[in-house]
Amino acid sequence: MGANAHLKKLPSVERILEDPRVAGRIGPLSRKGITRIVRETVEAFRERLAKGEMAASSDDNVRASVTDEVVRRFEEIERGAQRRVINATGVILHTNIGRAPLGEGARRAIEQAAAGYIDLEIDLESGARTERERRVSRLLALLADAEDAHVVNNNTAAVLLAVETLAGEGAVAVSRGELVEIGGSFRLPEILAHAAGRVIEIGTTNRTHRKDYEKAIKDGATLLLKVHTSNYRIVGYTNEVPVRELVEIGRRRGVPVMYDQGSGVLYPLAAKGIEGEESLHDVMASGVDLMSFSMDKVLGGPQGGAIVGRADLVARMRENHLSRALRLDKLTLAALESVLLEYWTGRFDEVPALRMITTDLEAVRSRAGAIASLVRERCPTGLEVTIEETESSIGGGSFPSNPLRSVVVQITLLGSRAEKTAARLRAGSPAVLVRVKEQSIMIDPRTVLPGEEDALVERLVEAFGAPCRRE
Ligand SMILES: *Cc1c(COP(=O)(O)O)cnc(C)c1O
Repeated sequence: MGANAHLKKLPSVERILEDPRVAGRIGPLSRKGITRIVRETVEAFRERLAKGEMAASSDDNVRASVTDEVVRRFEEIERGAQRRVINATGVILHTNIGRAPLGEGARRAIEQAAAGYIDLEIDLESGARTERERRVSRLLALLADAEDAHVVNNNTAAVLLAVETLAGEGAVAVSRGELVEIGGSFRLPEILAHAAGRVIEIGTTNRTHRKDYEKAIKDGATLLLKVHTSNYRIVGYTNEVPVRELVEIGRRRGVPVMYDQGSGVLYPLAAKGIEGEESLHDVMASGVDLMSFSMDKVLGGPQGGAIVGRADLVARMRENHLSRALRLDKLTLAALESVLLEYWTGRFDEVPALRMITTDLEAVRSRAGAIASLVRERCPTGLEVTIEETESSIGGGSFPSNPLRSVVVQITLLGSRAEKTAARLRAGSPAVLVRVKEQSIMIDPRTVLPGEEDALVERLVEAFGAPCRRE
């Protein structure tokens, strides 16, 4: 039979649409979309038949296969809903799985804001219109010891807005050693090129000096930007101008200095022995005019970005029309206020990301022990289960050279590739993400939320298969 004869066996779009499994799904707003899916599927089969990748048996068989595929595509859409992920990687702020998880307070605040009306932009006492960010700005300013604060969609937006406001018609000076890319989609040079009238790149990749900034000001810089090179370090023959010195240069010439701190270290982690990132307080104390950071990194809030600092500069940003495009929605504001209140009232343990970062090694070890015993009990043979000391990273581009010490459950499934086990763990529900090291998978309890242990063990048992007892 030639290719053309095969193609004749393809059912028409109309014919498929009449199939009860398809017709039964057509709703008032899905008819066009369903027709499109059917057409795309028929087209895909046409290509496969034409290429000879598929043998057409009978007309009925072809129609059944096309319909099956159509239904599979429907189910893929209908399943839609995002899947829960148990994070056993030990990476606390994992951008691909949503960075900081939110605690109960923030979730309750979101629920209230979502379910009804709230005093978003109205002062209930006077009835007058007011700023949606008023409570959050105030709290942030108080917590960071800054004159004022403004919140936007993410830290990228904060940098964009600040640069556009202060250098949109002027120029921004930035060291070549700080022209970073963070997380693939934040490429500072491109953002600056977009926002600033002119970008004055100064110094070299490894060395930038005071005189470079001074020259940039002579050349017209209206903003000196310093960027925390979050996810990498330049080592060796290097020089950078410390923030304090930059502040002195800027003051003398009347040019504002902004520091993109990035990770939002509001809690003094250094006091807990977690060194390597300046806290927001330290940066403010150095005298910078403005500082920006993410809300969903170390701070542990919902996605958002903040610019804090001099009131006159923050006011200019608020008035910038871009602010309207970058503003936060009511759900995020609700969650953010709740998290900031937890900081304000000292309830740090209620911020999950912060709790994970500060959990001490012995607590992690004890959870690892508990998980290991459950696994051993369910899978008495065929596995090697050990407890190992290792390092986990905070993630989100923060603390690049200072990983946390952690304790993991290391499991080797004899006769099976660890990559395969990891893939099975990702495929189920809830999905489980683990680290793979040679022949083993590693479960880091630091990022497993309290109460997730049982589901985790069930999924492990399912993924290991034969050696384990299913409940
Ligand atoms: C993470 C980071 C950004 C980007 O922040 P988003 O909130 O992800 O947009 C910008 N600058 C620095 C220094 C960062 O660490």
